[in-house]
Amino acid sequence: MVDSSRSREGPPAQELARALAERISWEREIGASGYRPGTAPAVKAEAAAAGPGGDPEARLRDLREEIGDCTRCPLHAGRNKIVFGEGDAAARLVFVGEGPGRDEDISGLPFVGAAGQLLTKIIEAIGLTREQVFICNIVKCRPPNNRDPEPAESGTCGPFMLRQLEIIRPRVVVALGRPSAQYLLDTDQPIGRLRGMFHDAHGTKIMPTYHPAYLLRNPSGKRAVWEDMKKVRDELGLPGAR
Ligand code: SF4
Repeated sequence: MVDSSRSREGPPAQELARALAERISWEREIGASGYRPGTAPAVKAEAAAAGPGGDPEARLRDLREEIGDCTRCPLHAGRNKIVFGEGDAAARLVFVGEGPGRDEDISGLPFVGAAGQLLTKIIEAIGLTREQVFICNIVKCRPPNNRDPEPAESGTCGPFMLRQLEIIRPRVVVALGRPSAQYLLDTDQPIGRLRGMFHDAHGTKIMPTYHPAYLLRNPSGKRAVWEDMKKVRDELGLPGAR
């Protein structure tokens, strides 16, 4: 049966209104203002389409095929779906979390649960959409009970994420949470000391910040994340940059 509440062009007005209200509420909370998602100029990497090695979309597809039905580390035993990551293969901005959670394990998509919805608001607060960035994790299979990945698991799966970065060649990588920041920066420093500044690593600029799941438990951290994201916005030259 056809859903008559849904127009042929997209989601019904009620859904759009609710999404807009949620985003405005987030912007009010963090003190952001101004830009509508998707109104930022194109954020494709300058040389992306014909960068070294060829078409990044095709190279990401090849990498996904290479990973296959992976059993390289113990995390394969409890997974439903490998969460490869999704987004623009030529994005200038990549988000890296630590690993899939329950909703991601079921759907095979990154950041689709409550933390994912908050990440979407964070992305939209700097004038971008999820489709304009790339989102992935250090490990591609869900750790049991959402624990942090073990060093051996990160050491086995992390290189696939690093190859994704090599292919996409983003200008900025936002490391979401301590395990991601510590892996990308090869350090054991706490996230509170790492966040708020760019670090040069893996041929790009890394901005560590708090994980959206942490913000759900500690809303007072949203202000710090917004400060970090304004630096990312400025580095990318997006509208609102100083
Ligand atoms: Fe393979 Fe990575 Fe999954 Fe481990 S976490 S089984 S290395 S895809």
